[in-house]
Amino acid sequence: MKKKSSIKLQNNNRPQELIKIENILDKMETTLNYFENLSRLTALKELQTEEDNDPFKILIGTILSARSRDENTSKIVRKLFQKYKNALELSNADLNDIKSIIHSIGFYNTKSERIKQASKIIVEKFHGIVPSELEDLLSLPGVGRKTANCVLVYAFNKPAIPVDTHVHRISNRIGIVKTQDVKKTEEELIKIVDKKYWLILNNIFVIYGQNICLPIRPKCQICSLKGICNFYTNQKKI
Ligand code: SF4
Repeated sequence: MKKKSSIKLQNNNRPQELIKIENILDKMETTLNYFENLSRLTALKELQTEEDNDPFKILIGTILSARSRDENTSKIVRKLFQKYKNALELSNADLNDIKSIIHSIGFYNTKSERIKQASKIIVEKFHGIVPSELEDLLSLPGVGRKTANCVLVYAFNKPAIPVDTHVHRISNRIGIVKTQDVKKTEEELIKIVDKKYWLILNNIFVIYGQNICLPIRPKCQICSLKGICNFYTNQKKI
């Protein structure tokens, strides 16, 4: 089904507005471009570039990055892959050794077990090759919708919208969606965003969420979206 080119902003306080997703992405670019020294790479984008879209490394990097700071994750993922280069090697690795390598990442005990188990399943069920179908990815331990969609986008260049905390927060603040959880946000976004923007949406929203539309005290004064943003409009009224 062809998506509408314009999105109706979810705003109860002023007449319904239609806005194009490309305008939102352009405005984010405008704000980000204003800062010369800003890092324009998320951990996943960095991994995608460094590891030449290697699906296994992107999968493991995404599992490890859950609820962890980007700069910390990138460093640890690099260290892990220096020692274990593919699913077979990681599936045979000593669990305690994995733990000692990734111990500075949050939830390292659980994550160590999951990446070892996931590697084992990839070897035994998928012949050592990371599957490129959503359902197969979701069958792996530690892989939820966000991780599976990240692998589709960053490893296989398959259109999907990975919704993490940044994508969820910013979409709701602007008024693109009005949702309570990431799953619902993904459902709504895939209905209203033209598929040609799915591959880039996650990366730019994450950079924006890390630098401008921060979880606490977003930098609204320098944001090019304030003219259309529900959150900003409502804040002004307080
Ligand atoms: S105006 Fe503020 S809340 Fe709205 S998108 Fe920009 S930074 Fe985020």
